[in-house]
Amino acid sequence: MKIPPDHPRAEVLKIRERLVQGFEDGYVVPQGMIAQGRGEAFDYLIGEKTIPPVREAIKAAAAAFKLAEHPVISVNGNTAALCSEDLVELSEVTGAPLEVNLFHRTEDRVKKIAKVLKEAGADRVLGVDPEHLVRLPNLSSPRAVVDDRGIHRADVVLVPLEDGDRTNALKELGKTVVAIDLNPLSRTARSADITIVDNVVRCVRKITREYERMDQDRARYVLREYDNGRVLARVLDHIRERLRVLSDEAAGAT
Ligand code: ATP
Ligand code: MG
Repeated sequence: MKIPPDHPRAEVLKIRERLVQGFEDGYVVPQGMIAQGRGEAFDYLIGEKTIPPVREAIKAAAAAFKLAEHPVISVNGNTAALCSEDLVELSEVTGAPLEVNLFHRTEDRVKKIAKVLKEAGADRVLGVDPEHLVRLPNLSSPRAVVDDRGIHRADVVLVPLEDGDRTNALKELGKTVVAIDLNPLSRTARSADITIVDNVVRCVRKITREYERMDQDRARYVLREYDNGRVLARVLDHIRERLRVLSDEAAGAT
């Protein structure tokens, strides 16, 4: 579909087109498109930009990566379609491998997503080679399949657009979970150690930039001071304040 460049929401439409293309190519699932719609609704509420309290979460994510021994970046169909270049860059800068990890897992989708990542510049993608696949003990298959060189041994896992169940399973195994989720109310957002309430198309490269400018001492300080509950509360306050202003404007306009 050709998007008119002067369309007021051209950016959003372009992002949707990438997902639709991923769907037509057979690696984005229909459930993924529903998730995107839910994400867009929350993006409206935060104002479609990275809001100040979220910058703190982004710094904490960079700090967690800086101090991790085995950080891993989990990739699903939506994130491959939306921001594979940014994920590859984050992986290169931090040394954290990319792992295809799917809720609706099929071999075909796994291979297609690995291909998208390789086309975006990745030289290694975990979660594909059957010889290295193992199951997490506390989840039912096929959601539980992970790579023994990746998520299985990871101490820090970045999970963009994850579901609440798996976030909890990773936490139960003692891993630090960094979630990217536009819905500050989702189970994922509430149970992750660090929750970045932002669109993946905006925030992944911001994590990379923070990582580049942070040293280990600074990272330790950032994590010591970080409180995810406080950040989530400030995100909700931001939405409330924004709605108050919009409500005043709407009342004035009538
Ligand atoms: P949970 O199980 O955690 O309560 P859920 O059932 O809503 O939540 P899923 O549908 O599995 O979770 O995950 C999709 C989540 O990803 C949604 O919360 C949605 O807001 C978020 N999301 C969708 N698109 C984006 C995007 N582009 N950037 C960031 N987050 C997104
Ligand atoms: Mg869910």
